Amino acid sequence: MTSFETSARVGDARSGKLHCRDTVVETPHLFPVINFYCGGLARTHFGGGVFRTVKEFLSNEVPAANGTDYSEYFRGVMTSVASLTDFGLSRERYLSYLETPVKSRPEFAEFDGALFVDSGGYKLLNEGSLSGTNFSIETSQKLIHGIQRAFGADIAVNLDLPFEESDVYRDRVSKTEATASFAAEFVNMDAEGSRRYLTVHGYSKAMLDRFFDTVARTLPGPIDQFYDGIAFGGLVPKKDDLNGLINAVSSLKTVLAERNLSHLPIHVLGISGRAMPLLIALGVDTFDSSTYLHSAINGKYSTSLFTSTNVAEADFDICDCPVCTSPALRQQMRGDAEYQKDILGPVAVHNLILQQQFVKRLRRSIAEGNREQLRTFLENAYQDRPQSRKFAYRVINQTLGSYF
Ligand SMILES: [Zn+2]
Repeated sequence: MTSFETSARVGDARSGKLHCRDTVVETPHLFPVINFYCGGLARTHFGGGVFRTVKEFLSNEVPAANGTDYSEYFRGVMTSVASLTDFGLSRERYLSYLETPVKSRPEFAEFDGALFVDSGGYKLLNEGSLSGTNFSIETSQKLIHGIQRAFGADIAVNLDLPFEESDVYRDRVSKTEATASFAAEFVNMDAEGSRRYLTVHGYSKAMLDRFFDTVARTLPGPIDQFYDGIAFGGLVPKKDDLNGLINAVSSLKTVLAERNLSHLPIHVLGISGRAMPLLIALGVDTFDSSTYLHSAINGKYSTSLFTSTNVAEADFDICDCPVCTSPALRQQMRGDAEYQKDILGPVAVHNLILQQQFVKRLRRSIAEGNREQLRTFLENAYQDRPQSRKFAYRVINQTLGSYF
């Protein structure tokens, strides 16, 4: 079964469709990070302050969503097994959260996007267990996949051990071997119709070659016989290093091409913002990010993919998104709300919409197959950003043909 079809290409950029059970996600696409379980009860959408208000938008709940349909901004969402422990959790609550898949719960009945459930390997393997207030379960591939299934994951990844800046060669080798053995264990588990993505780590061609060689040795057949996509991880510490990100993604593309795996969709874990358009130009298909939400928690209202202002100083007239054009939500964002979550929740959703609108324009430009249009679009996006502009030119030259 083909889970990913590409329909247009411009240079290395591609647009297509990702099929996950009943949901189709148009690519390139940004998956906002959603924390479904924040330690609360069903009647409060499982709690979580600003997280909760975002869930009210996702599930089209009055009064937050106020009758407006926000589903197009939540066509695909990311959540992590590790987020279960973010708010302190009792054993009883833990078990009740795993009783019913997210999309089968009446609280989220309106949500019909694709659910990507990250393993949370970095956090949970470091801690050694998934722990609550009165219980602790040792981390294993089996435990994590059990939770991914209980969430009703449409896309799930194997447990993985990302590299850290301080790692020496032998740390990277042993982490690669550990991730490869999780990847081999994962393919023997019943995925119940969910897509499997292989987590991949490495910043250079040599590291990625070693990674793929190690994984290939542990699997009983070709990687694409068992995996439907690639989840490129460990890049969050490099989020402000555009040069490093471009090198890593370009290297991954080369390694996949050499191994006849170019047909697999590529998801970059934990990256959005100013790097995203360039990584799309290099051929990345999906991303996830919680930036929209964490900026809002810090009182930041996005004014572009690159800039933001304090929400108290924001001019909502410059934005035509459904949040900023709603008189009720504008009033809330100005501070006229009982709870902080109702001031900053709409700001988070505005921040998300701004990024989604940008990705949508980029997706259309690729779908139209117009090289000049894409080039101009990227150039305009970066022209006032001296720090990023030279990297934009590098990507344009590399993927869309020489410009200068
Ligand atoms: Zn807006």
